[in-house]
Amino acid sequence: MKQIAILGSTGSIGVSTLEIVAAHPDKFRVVSLSAGKNLELCARQVRQFRPKLVALADPADLPRLRELLDGQDVELVGGLEGLCAVATADGVQMVVAAIVGAAGLVPTAAAIQAGKDVALANKETLVTAGHLFMELVARHQVKLYPVDSEHSAVFQSIEGHRNQDITKIILTASGGPFRETPLERLKSVTVQDALNHPNWSMGRKITIDSATMMNKGLEVIEARWLFDVPVERISVVIHPQSIIHSMVEYLDGCVMAQMGVPDMKAPIAYALTCPERVPTGVRGLNLTEVGSLTFFEPDNGRFPALALAYRAVNDGESMPAVMNAANEVAVEAFLQGRIRFTEIAAVIEKTMDAHQPHVLNSVEEVLNTDRWGRAKAKELIGL
Ligand code: NAD
Ligand code: MG
Repeated sequence: MKQIAILGSTGSIGVSTLEIVAAHPDKFRVVSLSAGKNLELCARQVRQFRPKLVALADPADLPRLRELLDGQDVELVGGLEGLCAVATADGVQMVVAAIVGAAGLVPTAAAIQAGKDVALANKETLVTAGHLFMELVARHQVKLYPVDSEHSAVFQSIEGHRNQDITKIILTASGGPFRETPLERLKSVTVQDALNHPNWSMGRKITIDSATMMNKGLEVIEARWLFDVPVERISVVIHPQSIIHSMVEYLDGCVMAQMGVPDMKAPIAYALTCPERVPTGVRGLNLTEVGSLTFFEPDNGRFPALALAYRAVNDGESMPAVMNAANEVAVEAFLQGRIRFTEIAAVIEKTMDAHQPHVLNSVEEVLNTDRWGRAKAKELIGL
């Protein structure tokens, strides 16, 4: 029986995680969970999974949740302290880090410091503070399992191999909804168009990130830290069918790929149970039904955000954290109809231009840099 905590249980990854838990009641017990604003769903989850501790991001929402729970025996806590309590709760062996954005940083760090293994969905953690997190993981001797489908694919493709034999990591990208949209139309696409992802059903922020391909940029940086491979050896190829989830090339010319129907339940389950595999409800792959797998070079003119991510790693130090902060602000502004789709990358680039990279020695310093990046991006947008 694995005792787990879920940070962000009401999100897309959180809900899929709980579906796996529900399908294997003999394998998992949910000790604690945290949610944001979806109190009704959170209350339903508490009734179904009976955790002993629940945190809400905003303590002001606690009385309403208490009301919805109607006498249910569960401890409720709020705010950042509450999220950290969920991540470090007694008995928890593995924390599923599925909060979106830099808000996941502190609770994920708390989990590691408390000696918990982490199933990491929150890629922003490694983008903003990769060196600090990998150090923490080593120091506290915990395991870090990737949930992101590309990184799960790489993880599965390197098992049994030696790191020094890797010549290349090839991350696949669907290309999102605008892969073939005429360039002059990109500036007038709507929020609805951008949220209409062809292959994956995900939270709003990552869906917009997929449309700009900043998601792939964040994933390049995530891979750099998870697998300790320099970014020069991490490339991106557009693969519209999303059947190959990523690949690893070795010095003998062999390439290992992991394939499957695109469904996050498969990589989530593997992060939870690895090296064991459990049924997930994801159907097997019928390649004759898929017919053909195609591959394209990403076009920098169409997807400037991807190049910005490579630039951020090369500038180094605090630059990826600033890029990430500006992206979070710009995506939110786009979702609220305040800026155009094509302005997302422009805002990120201008924010990066205004930043002088500096060393980040602690999570506290990362948070300060994150705040600086947000303020600068807001100023540029005029918020
Ligand atoms: P989502 O928006 O559906 O859910 C986010 C969760 O975090 C919710 O439970 C929400 O209440 C909570 N949350 C949001 N802001 C918070 C805050 N400030 N404090 C505390 N909690 C907060 O997002 P998602 O699609 O599930 O993605 C979660 C993470 O997983 C992201 O980092 C994303 O990049 C990554 N990821 C998601 C997918 C996917 O298929 N959805 C795939 C790969 C990686
Ligand atoms: Mg991914």
